[in-house]
Amino acid sequence: MRFYNTLTRRLEEFREIEKGKVGLYTCGPTVYDFPHIGNNRAYVFEDLVKRFLIHSGYAVRHVMNITDIDDKTIRKASELGVPLSAVTQKFIDAFHADLRALNVLPADVYPRATEHIPEMVGLISQLLEKGFAYEKDGSVYFSIGRFPNYGRLANVEPESLKLGAAVSADEYEKEAVQDFALWKGKKPGEPSWPAPFGEGRPGWHIECSAMSMKYLGPHFDIHMGGVDNIFPHHENEIAQSECANGVAFVNFWLHCQHLIIDGQKMSKSLGNFYTLSDLLGKGHAPMAVRYLLIATHYRKLLNFTLEGLEMAAQALSRVKNFVFSLKNVGTEGEADAELAAAVQASLAAFQKNMADDFNVSGALGEMFDLIGKVNPRLNALSRADAANLLGYVERVNSVLGILEPDDQGPLDAEIEARIALREKARREKDYARADEIRAELKAQGIVLLDTPAGVKWKKE
Ligand code: AMP
Ligand code: ZN
Repeated sequence: MRFYNTLTRRLEEFREIEKGKVGLYTCGPTVYDFPHIGNNRAYVFEDLVKRFLIHSGYAVRHVMNITDIDDKTIRKASELGVPLSAVTQKFIDAFHADLRALNVLPADVYPRATEHIPEMVGLISQLLEKGFAYEKDGSVYFSIGRFPNYGRLANVEPESLKLGAAVSADEYEKEAVQDFALWKGKKPGEPSWPAPFGEGRPGWHIECSAMSMKYLGPHFDIHMGGVDNIFPHHENEIAQSECANGVAFVNFWLHCQHLIIDGQKMSKSLGNFYTLSDLLGKGHAPMAVRYLLIATHYRKLLNFTLEGLEMAAQALSRVKNFVFSLKNVGTEGEADAELAAAVQASLAAFQKNMADDFNVSGALGEMFDLIGKVNPRLNALSRADAANLLGYVERVNSVLGILEPDDQGPLDAEIEARIALREKARREKDYARADEIRAELKAQGIVLLDTPAGVKWKKE
């Protein structure tokens, strides 16, 4: 398996540190607002990588932090005049609800920053002792001039380093490459904790260094996030961790490109800001959203449109219909050797595409090729053939995660939606269309009954 390592800027063959095991850290949400579907793109991509690693036989230990203290969460709490935890808990719940709806495998640990302050204080003390950090006006800063590799991940030119200048903000542009805050001295109205270097609160970057080290050790395999995390966040994580521990921090860095909407940056002011619940509220299925999020290669911008979502839903229903048919066909008889060979070849091609820097469209193409080949002869399949094909879909879906575990054909909500379409066609006197919808549903084993109380349906 090979993928693009941001650190070396090339495709590299994946090699784990400890045989058969992968330590994986993904930057989780900053919980000051509801997650948007851009965040979900990053989480679903990370899930795809994790699922493929598991599919390939690795035991994955996955840690995903929750940033429940930083500039943004504090600002939000102060705007609302409530304690920090009153803001963060609501958005932590919303984050988990989105992940569940999108069929994202849970991480092994979701450490919260506010529950790891002693670890951060310990790490900052170490950096101070070793001379990589200094105190100034009650805060502690990391001295980037002391770390020769600073700028390697984000490809920042060393000449642009503003040595001696210090920045307190958690987020800043590449143009402001400066010493950054590890610990911010207490300010009125802000939450704070005691520390040997004075009362205060942690900066954002030290959170991930302290928590990844605690749960995965000082040197682990893969670290992921969205591209906006590369600088300064991940650059700073590397600096802090490597200076404190004296060993390489992470072997492979993977970053997912952004999701944009209708060709523009998503923003609340433009009114083009979607959350998953916005989309579900409009009647879209969560698995269609997941399909859309994974279908574009992770290193390309994903231009989100509602038309694209419709197309994702259509592609997904091809797979669901295929599964549904396979569960309902099957003659007595032997397994077809030629079909078995085609299934095996398709699975191998699917895996080969995934192993090539997560070429999802290539992998999906292989799956749809097989579905296209089998569809015309569904009725002639033996039960052994159908079982073999269902096993294939299960294997492929263990990576894609686009079918829910209990997917046994169209969901009730989809059936209701199709019935509503048929009603509309009938009201518009388009009886041909109405009959067509009835026939489509019949083919999926759904029978419509026109009763005085309206249309009812049942499974055959
Ligand atoms: P945040 O809650 O801002 O810390 O972000 C959580 C994750 O979502 C990080 O991995 C970000 O890089 C990622 N992310 C933020 N915005 C987008 C976007 N528009 N598209 C894809 N990923 C994003
Ligand atoms: Zn992080």
